[in-house]
Amino acid sequence: MCNRRPGLSAAAALREGGAEAVCWDDSPEGRAKAEEAGHEIRDLTKPEALRGLDRLVVSPGIPHLYPHPHPAVRAALEEGVPVDNDIGLFFRSLAGSEWLEFDVPPKVVAITGSNGKSTTTALIHHCLLEAGREAQLAGNIGRGVLDIDPPGDGGVIVLELSSYQTDLARALTPDVAVFTNLSPDHLDRHGGMGGYFAAKRRLFAEGGPDRAVVGVDEDEGLFLAGQLAEAPGDDRVMRISVTKKLDGPGWNVFARKGFLSEYRKGRQAGSIDLRGIRGLPGRHNHQNACSAYAALRALGLAPREIEAGFLSFQGLPHRSQIIAEAKGVTYVNDSKATNVDSAAQALQAFPKIRWIAGGLGKDGGIGALAPHLGAVVKAYLIGHSARDFALQLGGLDHEISGTMEQAVAQAMAEAGEGETVLLAPAAASFDQYPNFEKRGEDFARIVRERLGLPA
Ligand code: ADP
Repeated sequence: MCNRRPGLSAAAALREGGAEAVCWDDSPEGRAKAEEAGHEIRDLTKPEALRGLDRLVVSPGIPHLYPHPHPAVRAALEEGVPVDNDIGLFFRSLAGSEWLEFDVPPKVVAITGSNGKSTTTALIHHCLLEAGREAQLAGNIGRGVLDIDPPGDGGVIVLELSSYQTDLARALTPDVAVFTNLSPDHLDRHGGMGGYFAAKRRLFAEGGPDRAVVGVDEDEGLFLAGQLAEAPGDDRVMRISVTKKLDGPGWNVFARKGFLSEYRKGRQAGSIDLRGIRGLPGRHNHQNACSAYAALRALGLAPREIEAGFLSFQGLPHRSQIIAEAKGVTYVNDSKATNVDSAAQALQAFPKIRWIAGGLGKDGGIGALAPHLGAVVKAYLIGHSARDFALQLGGLDHEISGTMEQAVAQAMAEAGEGETVLLAPAAASFDQYPNFEKRGEDFARIVRERLGLPA
Protein backbone atom coordinates (compact mmCIF):
# COMPACT_ATOMS: atom_id res chain seq x y z
CA MET A 1 0.00 0.00 0.00
CA CYS A 2 1.77 3.10 -1.22
CA ASN A 3 0.78 5.70 1.30
CA ARG A 4 3.03 8.60 0.28
CA ARG A 5 6.68 8.65 1.23
CA PRO A 6 7.14 5.44 3.26
CA GLY A 7 5.07 3.51 0.74
CA LEU A 8 6.94 4.84 -2.25
CA SER A 9 10.34 4.18 -0.74
CA ALA A 10 9.27 0.65 0.20
CA ALA A 11 8.08 0.10 -3.36
CA ALA A 12 11.36 1.46 -4.76
CA ALA A 13 13.43 -0.71 -2.41
CA LEU A 14 11.43 -3.80 -3.33
CA ARG A 15 11.95 -3.11 -7.00
CA GLU A 16 15.66 -2.62 -6.43
CA GLY A 17 15.75 -5.98 -4.68
CA GLY A 18 14.24 -7.64 -7.74
CA ALA A 19 10.60 -7.78 -6.58
CA GLU A 20 7.65 -6.35 -8.40
CA ALA A 21 5.61 -3.84 -6.38
CA VAL A 22 1.91 -3.34 -6.99
CA CYS A 23 0.67 -0.13 -5.33
CA TRP A 24 -2.51 1.38 -3.98
CA ASP A 25 -3.23 4.66 -2.22
CA ASP A 26 -6.68 5.85 -1.15
CA SER A 27 -6.01 9.29 -2.58
CA PRO A 28 -5.79 9.99 -6.32
CA GLU A 29 -2.67 12.15 -5.74
CA GLY A 30 -0.92 9.28 -3.98
CA ARG A 31 -1.80 6.91 -6.81
CA ALA A 32 -0.59 9.44 -9.37
CA LYS A 33 2.78 9.65 -7.57
CA ALA A 34 3.15 5.89 -7.52
CA GLU A 35 2.24 5.71 -11.18
CA GLU A 36 4.75 8.44 -11.97
CA ALA A 37 7.40 6.32 -10.26
CA GLY A 38 6.53 3.53 -12.69
CA HIS A 39 4.60 1.18 -10.37
CA GLU A 40 1.52 -0.77 -11.31
CA ILE A 41 -1.60 0.56 -9.56
CA ARG A 42 -4.15 -1.97 -8.39
CA ASP A 43 -7.14 -1.48 -6.08
CA LEU A 44 -5.88 -3.59 -3.19
CA THR A 45 -9.02 -3.06 -1.18
CA LYS A 46 -10.62 -5.80 -3.34
CA PRO A 47 -9.74 -9.30 -2.11
CA GLU A 48 -9.35 -10.64 -5.65
CA ALA A 49 -6.64 -8.01 -6.28
CA LEU A 50 -4.54 -9.62 -3.55
CA ARG A 51 -4.41 -13.04 -5.18
CA GLY A 52 -0.95 -14.04 -6.24
CA LEU A 53 0.77 -11.42 -4.05
CA ASP A 54 3.45 -12.52 -1.56
CA ARG A 55 2.72 -9.90 1.05
CA LEU A 56 0.97 -6.64 1.73
CA VAL A 57 3.32 -3.89 2.95
CA VAL A 58 1.47 -1.04 4.66
CA SER A 59 2.49 2.45 5.79
CA PRO A 60 2.23 3.50 9.47
CA GLY A 61 -0.82 5.71 8.82
CA ILE A 62 -2.95 2.73 7.73
CA PRO A 63 -4.93 1.15 10.63
CA HIS A 64 -4.28 -2.59 10.60
CA LEU A 65 -6.56 -3.65 13.45
CA TYR A 66 -8.12 -0.88 15.56
CA PRO A 67 -10.44 0.98 15.28
CA HIS A 68 -11.00 -1.17 12.13
CA PRO A 69 -8.60 -2.81 9.71
CA HIS A 70 -8.23 -0.76 6.54
CA PRO A 71 -10.09 -2.49 3.67
CA ALA A 72 -6.79 -3.52 2.02
CA VAL A 73 -5.54 -5.06 5.27
CA ARG A 74 -8.86 -6.83 5.71
CA ALA A 75 -8.66 -8.11 2.13
CA ALA A 76 -5.12 -9.42 2.75
CA LEU A 77 -6.15 -11.10 5.99
CA GLU A 78 -9.12 -12.72 4.28
CA GLU A 79 -6.95 -13.95 1.42
CA GLY A 80 -4.24 -15.19 3.79
CA VAL A 81 -1.63 -12.78 2.40
CA PRO A 82 0.91 -11.86 5.14
CA VAL A 83 0.81 -8.20 6.20
CA ASP A 84 4.12 -6.45 6.90
CA ASN A 85 5.69 -2.97 6.88
CA ASP A 86 8.95 -1.31 5.87
CA ILE A 87 10.49 -2.09 9.26
CA GLY A 88 9.85 -5.80 8.79
CA LEU A 89 11.40 -5.64 5.31
CA PHE A 90 14.42 -3.78 6.72
CA PHE A 91 15.14 -6.34 9.45
CA ARG A 92 14.74 -9.16 6.99
CA SER A 93 17.26 -7.54 4.67
CA LEU A 94 19.92 -7.29 7.40
CA ALA A 95 22.73 -9.65 8.03
CA GLY A 96 22.85 -11.20 4.59
CA SER A 97 25.94 -13.09 3.47
CA GLU A 98 27.81 -9.80 2.80
CA TRP A 99 27.80 -9.16 6.56
CA LEU A 100 30.33 -11.97 6.95
CA GLU A 101 32.88 -9.59 5.40
CA PHE A 102 32.71 -7.14 8.30
CA ASP A 103 35.32 -7.17 11.06
CA VAL A 104 32.78 -5.54 13.36
CA PRO A 105 29.28 -6.20 12.06
CA PRO A 106 26.99 -3.16 12.02
CA LYS A 107 24.48 -2.88 14.84
CA VAL A 108 20.91 -1.67 15.07
CA VAL A 109 19.58 0.23 18.08
CA ALA A 110 15.78 0.55 18.09
CA ILE A 111 13.95 2.98 20.36
CA THR A 112 10.29 2.83 21.27
CA GLY A 113 8.08 4.21 24.06
CA SER A 114 5.31 6.80 24.47
CA ASN A 115 7.41 9.94 24.91
CA GLY A 116 11.01 10.91 24.38
CA LYS A 117 11.67 8.55 21.44
CA SER A 118 12.89 11.22 19.04
CA THR A 119 15.03 12.96 21.64
CA THR A 120 16.59 9.70 22.81
CA THR A 121 17.18 8.55 19.23
CA ALA A 122 18.76 11.85 18.20
CA LEU A 123 20.90 11.91 21.35
CA ILE A 124 22.26 8.41 20.76
CA HIS A 125 23.03 9.28 17.15
CA HIS A 126 24.71 12.56 18.12
CA CYS A 127 26.91 10.95 20.79
CA LEU A 128 28.00 8.19 18.40
CA LEU A 129 29.06 10.74 15.79
CA GLU A 130 30.84 12.86 18.40
CA ALA A 131 32.72 9.77 19.52
CA GLY A 132 33.85 9.21 15.94
CA ARG A 133 31.60 6.22 15.23
CA GLU A 134 29.70 5.77 11.98
CA ALA A 135 25.98 6.22 12.65
CA GLN A 136 22.76 6.78 10.72
CA LEU A 137 19.38 8.00 11.94
CA ALA A 138 16.36 6.20 10.57
CA GLY A 139 12.70 5.54 11.13
CA ASN A 140 10.35 8.25 12.34
CA ILE A 141 13.15 10.78 12.38
CA GLY A 142 15.92 10.75 9.86
CA ARG A 143 15.66 8.75 6.70
CA GLY A 144 13.11 6.12 5.81
CA VAL A 145 14.49 2.82 6.98
CA LEU A 146 14.71 1.53 3.42
CA ASP A 147 16.50 4.69 2.23
CA ILE A 148 19.60 4.49 4.42
CA ASP A 149 23.10 3.89 3.10
CA PRO A 150 24.56 0.41 3.48
CA PRO A 151 26.27 0.51 6.89
CA GLY A 152 30.04 0.16 7.08
CA ASP A 153 32.29 -1.78 9.44
CA GLY A 154 31.22 -1.05 13.03
CA GLY A 155 28.45 1.28 11.83
CA VAL A 156 25.31 1.80 13.91
CA ILE A 157 21.77 2.34 12.66
CA VAL A 158 19.71 4.24 15.23
CA LEU A 159 16.07 3.58 14.58
CA GLU A 160 13.03 5.28 16.13
CA LEU A 161 9.95 3.06 16.05
CA SER A 162 6.34 3.90 16.84
CA SER A 163 3.90 1.40 18.27
CA TYR A 164 2.17 1.09 14.87
CA GLN A 165 5.46 0.00 13.37
CA THR A 166 6.40 -2.48 16.07
CA ASP A 167 2.89 -3.92 16.04
CA LEU A 168 3.03 -4.93 12.42
CA ALA A 169 6.67 -5.67 11.52
CA ARG A 170 7.14 -9.38 10.82
CA ALA A 171 10.82 -9.21 11.73
CA LEU A 172 12.18 -7.14 14.64
CA THR A 173 15.71 -8.04 15.63
CA PRO A 174 17.63 -5.03 16.94
CA ASP A 175 20.92 -5.58 18.79
CA VAL A 176 19.94 -3.04 21.43
CA ALA A 177 16.27 -2.23 22.12
CA VAL A 178 15.14 0.74 24.20
CA PHE A 179 11.73 1.17 25.86
CA THR A 180 11.61 4.72 27.24
CA ASN A 181 8.29 4.89 29.10
CA LEU A 182 4.58 4.26 28.69
CA SER A 183 1.59 6.60 28.95
CA PRO A 184 -1.81 6.46 27.27
CA ASP A 185 -1.65 7.66 23.65
CA HIS A 186 -3.07 6.41 20.35
CA LEU A 187 -5.26 4.02 22.33
CA ASP A 188 -7.89 4.04 19.58
CA ARG A 189 -5.34 2.38 17.26
CA HIS A 190 -4.44 -0.35 19.74
CA GLY A 191 -7.74 -1.23 21.37
CA GLY A 192 -6.72 0.20 24.76
CA MET A 193 -3.66 0.28 26.99
CA GLY A 194 -3.04 -3.48 26.93
CA GLY A 195 -2.89 -3.52 23.15
CA TYR A 196 -0.64 -0.47 23.11
CA PHE A 197 1.83 -2.04 25.52
CA ALA A 198 1.69 -5.35 23.65
CA ALA A 199 2.59 -3.52 20.41
CA LYS A 200 5.66 -1.90 21.96
CA ARG A 201 6.69 -5.08 23.70
CA ARG A 202 7.05 -6.94 20.43
CA LEU A 203 10.38 -5.20 20.03
CA PHE A 204 11.70 -7.41 22.82
CA ALA A 205 9.92 -10.60 21.90
CA GLU A 206 11.00 -11.63 18.41
CA GLY A 207 14.32 -13.29 19.01
CA GLY A 208 15.23 -10.84 21.77
CA PRO A 209 17.84 -8.08 21.57
CA ASP A 210 21.33 -8.60 23.02
CA ARG A 211 20.61 -5.73 25.40
CA ALA A 212 17.27 -4.37 26.52
CA VAL A 213 17.19 -0.85 27.98
CA VAL A 214 13.92 -0.52 29.88
CA GLY A 215 12.41 2.43 31.75
CA VAL A 216 10.99 0.93 34.96
CA ASP A 217 9.10 3.93 36.35
CA GLU A 218 5.75 2.54 35.16
CA ASP A 219 4.33 -0.87 36.02
CA GLU A 220 4.53 -2.00 32.39
CA GLY A 221 8.27 -1.29 32.14
CA LEU A 222 8.91 -2.90 35.50
CA PHE A 223 7.04 -5.97 34.35
CA LEU A 224 8.86 -6.09 31.02
CA ALA A 225 12.31 -5.82 32.65
CA GLY A 226 11.32 -8.53 35.13
CA GLN A 227 10.16 -10.81 32.37
CA LEU A 228 13.26 -10.36 30.23
CA ALA A 229 15.78 -10.96 33.03
CA GLU A 230 16.80 -14.56 33.71
CA ALA A 231 18.13 -13.71 37.18
CA PRO A 232 18.41 -10.63 39.46
CA GLY A 233 21.91 -9.80 38.16
CA ASP A 234 21.17 -10.46 34.47
CA ASP A 235 22.89 -7.52 32.79
CA ARG A 236 21.32 -8.04 29.39
CA VAL A 237 18.53 -5.94 30.89
CA MET A 238 19.53 -2.37 31.71
CA ARG A 239 16.99 -0.69 33.98
CA ILE A 240 16.35 3.06 33.81
CA SER A 241 14.67 5.30 36.39
CA VAL A 242 14.22 8.95 37.22
CA THR A 243 12.22 8.24 40.36
CA LYS A 244 14.34 5.79 42.31
CA LYS A 245 17.89 4.80 43.06
CA LEU A 246 18.65 1.52 41.31
CA ASP A 247 21.67 -0.01 43.02
CA GLY A 248 20.70 -3.67 42.77
CA PRO A 249 22.85 -6.43 41.29
CA GLY A 250 22.10 -5.79 37.58
CA TRP A 251 23.13 -2.99 35.20
CA ASN A 252 21.21 0.17 36.01
CA VAL A 253 21.17 3.84 35.06
CA PHE A 254 19.16 6.39 37.02
CA ALA A 255 18.97 10.14 37.52
CA ARG A 256 18.21 11.88 40.78
CA LYS A 257 18.43 15.58 41.57
CA GLY A 258 20.03 16.21 38.18
CA PHE A 259 22.80 13.61 38.52
CA LEU A 260 22.95 10.54 36.31
CA SER A 261 24.48 7.43 37.87
CA GLU A 262 25.43 4.11 36.33
CA TYR A 263 25.49 1.14 38.69
CA ARG A 264 26.73 -2.29 37.75
CA LYS A 265 26.67 -5.23 40.14
CA GLY A 266 25.75 -2.87 42.98
CA ARG A 267 28.72 -0.53 42.40
CA GLN A 268 28.81 2.90 40.83
CA ALA A 269 30.45 2.72 37.40
CA GLY A 270 29.89 6.23 36.07
CA SER A 271 28.15 9.54 36.74
CA ILE A 272 27.28 12.75 34.87
CA ASP A 273 26.05 16.08 36.23
CA LEU A 274 23.10 16.82 33.93
CA ARG A 275 22.08 20.09 35.56
CA GLY A 276 23.95 22.47 33.30
CA ILE A 277 23.33 20.65 30.02
CA ARG A 278 21.28 23.13 27.98
CA GLY A 279 20.05 20.67 25.38
CA LEU A 280 18.53 18.38 28.05
CA PRO A 281 16.45 20.47 30.49
CA GLY A 282 14.02 18.85 32.94
CA ARG A 283 13.45 15.46 34.42
CA HIS A 284 11.91 14.07 31.23
CA ASN A 285 15.12 14.85 29.39
CA HIS A 286 17.10 13.30 32.21
CA GLN A 287 15.12 10.15 31.53
CA ASN A 288 16.06 10.41 27.85
CA ALA A 289 19.69 10.97 28.88
CA CYS A 290 19.62 7.80 31.01
CA SER A 291 18.12 5.71 28.19
CA ALA A 292 20.64 7.06 25.69
CA TYR A 293 23.51 6.56 28.13
CA ALA A 294 22.57 2.92 28.68
CA ALA A 295 22.26 2.23 24.95
CA LEU A 296 25.61 3.91 24.31
CA ARG A 297 27.30 1.93 27.08
CA ALA A 298 25.85 -1.21 25.49
CA LEU A 299 27.53 -0.10 22.25
CA GLY A 300 30.87 0.25 24.01
CA LEU A 301 31.20 4.02 24.52
CA ALA A 302 33.03 5.24 27.63
CA PRO A 303 31.18 7.45 30.15
CA ARG A 304 33.40 10.45 29.30
CA GLU A 305 32.66 10.09 25.57
CA ILE A 306 28.96 10.07 26.37
CA GLU A 307 29.26 13.13 28.60
CA ALA A 308 31.05 15.04 25.82
CA GLY A 309 28.19 14.16 23.45
CA PHE A 310 25.56 15.29 25.97
CA LEU A 311 27.32 18.63 26.43
CA SER A 312 27.28 19.44 22.71
CA PHE A 313 23.71 18.20 22.11
CA GLN A 314 21.50 21.08 20.99
CA GLY A 315 18.14 19.44 21.68
CA LEU A 316 15.54 18.83 19.00
CA PRO A 317 13.37 21.58 17.59
CA HIS A 318 9.95 21.89 19.28
CA ARG A 319 10.91 19.73 22.30
CA SER A 320 11.73 21.94 25.30
CA GLN A 321 13.93 23.93 22.92
CA ILE A 322 15.34 27.19 24.23
CA ILE A 323 14.85 29.62 21.36
CA ALA A 324 15.79 32.95 22.97
CA GLU A 325 16.85 34.61 26.19
CA ALA A 326 16.27 38.31 26.74
CA LYS A 327 16.03 40.53 29.83
CA GLY A 328 16.26 37.51 32.09
CA VAL A 329 13.31 35.76 30.38
CA THR A 330 13.81 32.41 28.65
CA TYR A 331 11.60 31.46 25.70
CA VAL A 332 11.00 27.75 25.23
CA ASN A 333 9.30 26.00 22.32
CA ASP A 334 7.73 22.66 23.24
CA SER A 335 5.13 22.60 20.48
CA LYS A 336 5.58 18.82 20.36
CA ALA A 337 3.81 18.61 23.75
CA THR A 338 0.56 17.63 22.06
CA ASN A 339 -0.69 15.48 24.93
CA VAL A 340 -1.13 16.00 28.64
CA ASP A 341 1.75 13.76 29.60
CA SER A 342 4.41 15.50 27.55
CA ALA A 343 3.08 18.94 28.56
CA ALA A 344 3.30 17.87 32.21
CA GLN A 345 7.00 17.12 31.72
CA ALA A 346 7.74 20.50 30.19
CA LEU A 347 5.77 22.24 32.96
CA GLN A 348 8.03 20.61 35.54
CA ALA A 349 11.26 21.47 33.74
CA PHE A 350 11.32 25.23 34.43
CA PRO A 351 10.86 27.27 37.64
CA LYS A 352 8.45 30.17 36.85
CA ILE A 353 6.34 29.70 33.79
CA ARG A 354 4.10 31.86 31.64
CA TRP A 355 2.38 29.05 29.84
CA ILE A 356 0.97 29.21 26.31
CA ALA A 357 -1.44 26.30 25.84
CA GLY A 358 -4.42 25.22 23.78
CA GLY A 359 -5.25 24.17 20.27
CA LEU A 360 -7.36 21.14 19.54
CA GLY A 361 -7.69 19.50 22.97
CA LYS A 362 -7.68 15.72 23.32
CA ASP A 363 -10.27 13.53 25.05
CA GLY A 364 -10.14 14.08 28.79
CA GLY A 365 -8.98 17.71 28.43
CA ILE A 366 -6.25 19.00 30.70
CA GLY A 367 -7.75 18.10 34.09
CA ALA A 368 -4.91 15.64 34.68
CA LEU A 369 -2.40 18.51 34.53
CA ALA A 370 -3.66 20.00 37.84
CA PRO A 371 -0.85 18.48 39.98
CA HIS A 372 1.81 19.81 37.58
CA LEU A 373 0.84 23.46 37.43
CA GLY A 374 2.77 24.55 40.54
CA ALA A 375 5.37 26.52 38.57
CA VAL A 376 2.83 28.27 36.32
CA VAL A 377 2.42 31.99 37.03
CA LYS A 378 -0.25 32.47 34.36
CA ALA A 379 -1.72 30.63 31.36
CA TYR A 380 -2.34 32.21 27.95
CA LEU A 381 -4.87 30.09 26.08
CA ILE A 382 -5.19 29.80 22.34
CA GLY A 383 -7.21 27.96 19.73
CA HIS A 384 -10.34 25.86 19.68
CA SER A 385 -10.09 24.50 23.23
CA ALA A 386 -9.08 27.77 24.95
CA ARG A 387 -12.36 28.14 26.84
CA ASP A 388 -12.55 24.44 27.75
CA PHE A 389 -9.02 24.59 29.08
CA ALA A 390 -9.84 27.76 31.08
CA LEU A 391 -12.60 25.87 32.90
CA GLN A 392 -10.13 23.15 33.93
CA LEU A 393 -7.48 25.42 35.42
CA GLY A 394 -9.01 25.78 38.89
CA GLY A 395 -7.96 29.09 40.39
CA LEU A 396 -4.93 29.57 38.13
CA ASP A 397 -4.54 33.05 36.65
CA HIS A 398 -5.25 32.92 32.92
CA GLU A 399 -6.27 34.81 29.83
CA ILE A 400 -8.07 33.74 26.65
CA SER A 401 -5.53 35.03 24.14
CA GLY A 402 -7.01 33.30 21.09
CA THR A 403 -4.04 33.52 18.75
CA MET A 404 -0.33 32.77 19.11
CA GLU A 405 0.49 36.38 18.22
CA GLN A 406 -1.65 37.67 21.07
CA ALA A 407 -0.48 35.04 23.55
CA VAL A 408 3.20 35.81 22.93
CA ALA A 409 2.57 39.56 23.12
CA GLN A 410 0.77 39.25 26.45
CA ALA A 411 3.19 36.76 27.99
CA MET A 412 6.19 38.81 26.90
CA ALA A 413 4.73 42.04 28.27
CA GLU A 414 4.05 40.45 31.65
CA ALA A 415 7.10 38.21 32.08
CA GLY A 416 9.66 39.24 34.68
CA GLU A 417 13.27 38.29 35.30
CA GLY A 418 13.85 34.59 35.98
CA GLU A 419 10.63 33.55 34.24
CA THR A 420 10.13 31.26 31.25
CA VAL A 421 7.61 31.80 28.47
CA LEU A 422 6.77 28.23 27.54
CA LEU A 423 4.76 26.95 24.59
CA ALA A 424 3.55 23.51 25.71
CA PRO A 425 0.06 23.30 24.20
CA ALA A 426 -1.24 19.96 25.61
CA ALA A 427 -3.31 19.87 22.43
CA ALA A 428 -3.07 19.10 18.73
CA SER A 429 -2.36 21.98 16.36
CA PHE A 430 -4.75 21.25 13.51
CA ASP A 431 -7.31 23.95 14.36
CA GLN A 432 -4.79 26.71 13.65
CA TYR A 433 -1.76 25.07 11.97
CA PRO A 434 -1.03 22.25 9.52
CA ASN A 435 1.15 20.52 12.14
CA PHE A 436 3.01 21.01 15.43
CA GLU A 437 6.19 22.03 13.63
CA LYS A 438 4.48 25.00 11.95
CA ARG A 439 2.98 25.97 15.32
CA GLY A 440 6.40 25.91 16.96
CA GLU A 441 7.96 27.85 14.09
CA ASP A 442 5.25 30.47 14.37
CA PHE A 443 5.91 30.83 18.10
CA ALA A 444 9.66 31.15 17.50
CA ARG A 445 9.17 33.66 14.68
CA ILE A 446 6.89 35.89 16.78
CA VAL A 447 9.26 35.77 19.75
CA ARG A 448 12.27 36.65 17.60
CA GLU A 449 10.47 39.43 15.77
CA ARG A 450 9.26 41.00 18.98
CA LEU A 451 12.70 40.78 20.53
CA GLY A 452 14.29 42.22 17.39
CA LEU A 453 16.42 39.10 16.91
CA PRO A 454 17.42 37.76 13.49
CA ALA A 455 14.97 35.18 12.09
P1 ADP B 1 8.42 11.14 20.83
O1 ADP B 1 9.30 10.94 19.64
O2 ADP B 1 8.26 9.90 21.66
O3 ADP B 1 7.14 11.82 20.54
P2 ADP B 1 9.97 13.46 21.60
O4 ADP B 1 11.39 13.34 21.99
O5 ADP B 1 9.68 13.95 20.24
O6 ADP B 1 9.24 12.09 21.83
O7 ADP B 1 9.24 14.39 22.65
C1 ADP B 1 7.81 14.54 22.54
C2 ADP B 1 7.25 15.41 23.63
O8 ADP B 1 7.38 14.73 24.86
C3 ADP B 1 7.94 16.73 23.81
O9 ADP B 1 6.94 17.65 24.17
C4 ADP B 1 8.92 16.52 24.92
O10 ADP B 1 9.17 17.69 25.67
C5 ADP B 1 8.22 15.48 25.76
N1 ADP B 1 9.15 14.49 26.28
C6 ADP B 1 10.41 14.26 25.84
N2 ADP B 1 10.96 13.26 26.54
C7 ADP B 1 10.03 12.84 27.42
C8 ADP B 1 10.00 11.83 28.42
N3 ADP B 1 11.05 11.06 28.65
N4 ADP B 1 8.85 11.68 29.13
C9 ADP B 1 7.79 12.45 28.91
N5 ADP B 1 7.77 13.44 28.00
C10 ADP B 1 8.86 13.63 27.26
